[in-house]
Amino acid sequence: MFAPHPDDAELGAGGAIVKAISADFRVGIIDLTAGEMGSLGTKEIRLVEAEEARKVLGVELRQNLGFPDAFLPFEDKKEAALKITNKIREFKPKIVLIPYWEDRHPDHIATSFIVSKACHFAKLKKIELDHPKHKVKHKIFYELNGQSKYTFLMDISKEFQKKKEAIMSFKSQFKEFSMEYLPFPVEERCKYYGSMIKAEYAEAFYMKEPLVLKDWATLL
Ligand SMILES: [Zn+2]
Repeated sequence: MFAPHPDDAELGAGGAIVKAISADFRVGIIDLTAGEMGSLGTKEIRLVEAEEARKVLGVELRQNLGFPDAFLPFEDKKEAALKITNKIREFKPKIVLIPYWEDRHPDHIATSFIVSKACHFAKLKKIELDHPKHKVKHKIFYELNGQSKYTFLMDISKEFQKKKEAIMSFKSQFKEFSMEYLPFPVEERCKYYGSMIKAEYAEAFYMKEPLVLKDWATLL
């Protein structure tokens, strides 16, 4: 999974991450920036918090690519996309989670574009990098500030508590909040999506490619 800033993975897909780990999926988070341009906290603090959140979620691997926050990727888009391509080829994910591109934050939009590009580059054998080509099976977009025309809603009622704890690991970002009073409309959004599937909480995900139904039995 790729995230623009430390804390975005947790905010957008924390429940889905915990659910994947419970089902024995191997999950890795790659943050593109350390969020150093944010008004709260410092680069060092946010990296420590990201590590704490990693432990809460139970994620095996978390890396930070150190791209400049707020300038993402401003100067050399190609170089940035190739750096991400190299990571995709190194870890060979079958599923890649990407921020949804309609969002008020320019870094979230940039991440959406650049990671989508990198998924495409990863399968092109004529792009020679440190690792051989790799085809990502599913690119799945998660919501941050924007709202997608979701392809599916994932019930995260059981996982919501851990998502919350992981978000609250970012103490520098959410000083005035608590486990009882979460930042932004995180809880409301998850409740809203939950209400649509008769669950307590859910997260929304969008796919550009159709989600294939192999037979009717899959629906039952
Ligand atoms: Zn962000």
